[in-house]
Amino acid sequence: VDFTAFFAALGQEELNNYYVKLQKEYDDYKSQKLSLDMSRGKPCPEQLDISMEMLDLVKSSDSLHAADGTDLRNYGGLDGISEAKELFAQILGVSAKEVLIGGNSSLNMMHDTIARAMLHGVPGGGTAWGKLPVVKFLCPSPGYDRHFAICELFQIEMITIRMTNEGPDMDAVEKLVSEDDAIKGIWCVPKYSNPDGITYSDEVVDRLASMKTKAGDFRIIWDDAYTIHHLTDQPDPLKNMMDACKAAGNPDRVLQFASTSKITFPGSGVAVMAASENNLAAIRKQLSVQTIGPDKINQLRHVRFFPDMNAVHHHMKKHAELIKPKFDLVISLLEAELGDKQIASWHKPNGGYFISLNTLDGCAKAIVAMAAGAGVTLTKAGATYPYGKDPQDRNIRIAPTYPSLTELKTAIQVLCLCVQIVSLEKVMG
Ligand code: PLP
Repeated sequence: VDFTAFFAALGQEELNNYYVKLQKEYDDYKSQKLSLDMSRGKPCPEQLDISMEMLDLVKSSDSLHAADGTDLRNYGGLDGISEAKELFAQILGVSAKEVLIGGNSSLNMMHDTIARAMLHGVPGGGTAWGKLPVVKFLCPSPGYDRHFAICELFQIEMITIRMTNEGPDMDAVEKLVSEDDAIKGIWCVPKYSNPDGITYSDEVVDRLASMKTKAGDFRIIWDDAYTIHHLTDQPDPLKNMMDACKAAGNPDRVLQFASTSKITFPGSGVAVMAASENNLAAIRKQLSVQTIGPDKINQLRHVRFFPDMNAVHHHMKKHAELIKPKFDLVISLLEAELGDKQIASWHKPNGGYFISLNTLDGCAKAIVAMAAGAGVTLTKAGATYPYGKDPQDRNIRIAPTYPSLTELKTAIQVLCLCVQIVSLEKVMG
């Protein structure tokens, strides 16, 4: 590791004094016995408060019937009520026929999607993936740890793909999928990605949709978890993947997912999957054995709360008002504490739930451990990579939404201190 300009400009003695000063600040924080948790991207209580009225929209005196007359209190409705399909079709930019409403978690739907593919295969494939000697998935990284956990559970071999500012490194993706038919899919968080907060460019969308894959049953898991979770009035545009796949003659390639977890209530929201009618027909067949259908009353609550897209966007603005100051605070503290030192870099996202901090190589684990020593819990270092192993040990995921501004300020100050101390130890040897 090279001395960065900032530290190189200090003489040895100044450097030592600076290090001692940082250590003292760290010890001061330690003595405060802090307990701050920034490990997971959770909405803060104030965000949950803005959806409370939704709970009043279904009452015992109501007629709990869908527009088509279905009694929502009873069994039935394998893939959701039509009003909910209409709503999500608009959110995801697909037709209502391409929508399947799930339960309370999109992660659950993704897990089951992979489980079904392992057990039974997917349309156009034939062999169940689980019967093949090896199944591989491409994992643009840093990425979402729970995607990688699904692969680990099913013993799907993960191949790390470097993330660029426009999405996955497509040269690498195209080369790999064209050569190896064991590669059955790729995980994508295309908008305000977890954790980088970047949005895939049109070119990346087109290349993913049209690339030649050796596996005839290749699938893009398009986890559009943050599709409407903007922080600014100038949202990142994302090209419609379903349209791109159809245009490229690969309509079955994409499986899209989302949920209202970070729109209404995580754990009590509505999850959704969108895919070609061909894909959905096969999925419904299997799903009908697994379940009679998801919670229709919760779907009704949601469609009453969001009668149209204006209501959705208005609601998302309220979320942004609550969390944008937190993102701004993190970015301004990173600028102030680390901006001139060339020991870390970060993305400034226009939406989503995370800020991704890259430190000097080989420092992330030590920084996260040191922050934990002062009572600041961050996402485990390495978690954003397959098998929990960040090859450069440099990525730290910051989840700013849950703590209060005061807590967040302290937590980021501690983090910045730890980044400096660990970097200095590294450069001083
Ligand atoms: N997908 C991504 C990219 C996420 O970041 C998260 C939650 O952090 C989820 C899915 C989980 O979604 P759900 O609550 O719908 O299971």
